[in-house]
Amino acid sequence: MSRRQQLLRFLGTPTVKLAGTYLAIIMLMSVSFSIIFYNTSAQQFSRPIPGVGQSELRQNGNVMFNDQNGSIVFNDELRRVIDERFAQTRRALKIRLVWINLSALVLGSVISYILARRSLQPIEEAMEAQTQFVSDASHELRTPLTVLQTTNEVALRRPKLPAADARDLIAHNVEEVKKLRHLSNMLLELLKNNDAEVIFAPVNLQDVVSDALGSVVAVAQDKDITIEDQVPKVYALTSKELLARIVVILLDNAVKYSEAGKVITISAKQTEKKVFLSVTDQGIGIRASDLPHIFRRFYRADKSRSVNDTHGYGLGLAIADKLSEQSGAKIHVSSTLGKGSTFAIELSVPSKEDKSADR
Ligand code: ADP
Repeated sequence: MSRRQQLLRFLGTPTVKLAGTYLAIIMLMSVSFSIIFYNTSAQQFSRPIPGVGQSELRQNGNVMFNDQNGSIVFNDELRRVIDERFAQTRRALKIRLVWINLSALVLGSVISYILARRSLQPIEEAMEAQTQFVSDASHELRTPLTVLQTTNEVALRRPKLPAADARDLIAHNVEEVKKLRHLSNMLLELLKNNDAEVIFAPVNLQDVVSDALGSVVAVAQDKDITIEDQVPKVYALTSKELLARIVVILLDNAVKYSEAGKVITISAKQTEKKVFLSVTDQGIGIRASDLPHIFRRFYRADKSRSVNDTHGYGLGLAIADKLSEQSGAKIHVSSTLGKGSTFAIELSVPSKEDKSADR
């Protein structure tokens, strides 16, 4: 790319365009202010100077006074010198204002550019994240679609497909389609904006946990994993539906990343203003270096995939994080590799007014 093209490209960037708008506003204000300032000052200089010729004049050295009102009056010679001074002052003022405006242009350009970069940075980051999301999502969708296409094409190429093989193929296809549905549901959940539907009310955590357990108990039993529910009757101010979704995601992961025979405990602890609902497992744990990233979309710690042959898209915790934001919760994680993890959901204790309003 030639230099000229590079320059044109740079000038066409949104940052430069926004900086241009900022600069135009700054310069409009600076130039208008200068014009008003110059005109006002010039008017002051051209105020009429009393001349000689009045009767009651008294001379004191070179200066003459009008005795009636005490003001100074000038003879023609003095007036010429003073007019010249005024003209010089006006010129100097003009030059100074031009310099001030040039400095405003230079300084304004730098400031406008910095401000424009600052304003656009979050938008650029959001767009980058969106592009990354779409590209990751397409990648995840492409894999099962390719598998589906290949297995079906291979089967089609066989002149005679035994009924048993056809059944296996269909069963395999159904599994892949289920995964695709699961993935598309997760993507939709991640993108859905359900802020408007969130209803905050005092929620009995025992109810939430028993609702959530309904969806994971079968999978846990299948894997010979025990879930111990130790949650006492405590209340939190949140949305029951969203909290239940978060608990399902955390329990689901606890089951997914635990080996047979292990125990998962779900418990709750109340302090003066907060309630902590915790899911603790004895699973494979999370490496300290992975911990800061696990809530990112599509993030999967490699180890967990290979060790346990688990299937996931790295979307569960991103959804849990989004839901926790909407339900006024915060999720804390602590984990030791090889020993297990605890995910604690921090919630607010409902006030007396909240509880009475709910009745
Ligand atoms: P996935 O579908 O891969 O489980 P998540 O967003 O739910 O996606 O989790 C992101 C990553 O965090 C997982 O891939 C896994 O590496 C790690 N992780 C989450 N929960 C646990 C857990 N209870 N034990 C061990 N690792 C976990």
